[in-house]
Amino acid sequence: MNASLETPQVIILLGPPGAGKGTHAPKLSQHLQVPHISTGDLFRYHLKEKTTLGEIADKYIQKGELVPDDIVIDMVIDRLSESDCKNGCILDGFPRTTFQAVSLESKVTDKIIKAIYFKASDEILFERITGRLCCKECNAVYHKSFFPPKEQDICDKCQSTLFQRKDDTKEVLKKRLEVYHLQTDPLIHFYDKKNALTEINVENTNSLEDIFQDILFSLKETTLSPS
Ligand code: ADP
Ligand code: ZN
Repeated sequence: MNASLETPQVIILLGPPGAGKGTHAPKLSQHLQVPHISTGDLFRYHLKEKTTLGEIADKYIQKGELVPDDIVIDMVIDRLSESDCKNGCILDGFPRTTFQAVSLESKVTDKIIKAIYFKASDEILFERITGRLCCKECNAVYHKSFFPPKEQDICDKCQSTLFQRKDDTKEVLKKRLEVYHLQTDPLIHFYDKKNALTEINVENTNSLEDIFQDILFSLKETTLSPS
């Protein structure tokens, strides 16, 4: 059964690269009937379309650095102003800095903002990221051993060929994790202080369904009403 958001909400998926935000977000989006907005996917779309924004962002992405705040914030706020976001949305990969979080709060005043923190240790993230496969067409995410596609290198959902992201190497991931701990970790405290954070342990890769149920449970009491 799908559910609807009683009050318009911006649900932030917070957590390190490889924690599973991009795996669970599409399912959650379908369940809640609100759009999934992934800043990483938006940048990769711009890159594919060879836009100026894509070219600029790619320089940072390849190095494992964050794209400058002003660029990301403008892109997200633009996207949030589209009509499909009126009942809320799921933000995956944004905010990633305190400045982004404060900007979001100042721009979105008509919706409740809450964050779900996907908690996982750095060790398991290396294994997850270096085995990750992505679909260029529909952005579905797989893993070579933990969550393989039915047919090797082919997306179950749209039959396109899967690829490994250029920034999913050990070297770039090391930098991404450093940046994550320095710039994004403080957001855990930022949302916790506002009583807007729930934490989910996502270390057990064998139970994707259990993790999804945990996500729903964390939202349930204040968020969902059966539709
Ligand atoms: P993951 O969560 O697996 O690290 P994403 O697909 O969310 O990867 O992001 C890929 C890259 O895009 C990041 O490493 C960063 O360079 C850039 N990026 C995505 N979201 C943001 C953001 N909110 N602020 C700055 N840079 C971002
Ligand atoms: Zn696909």
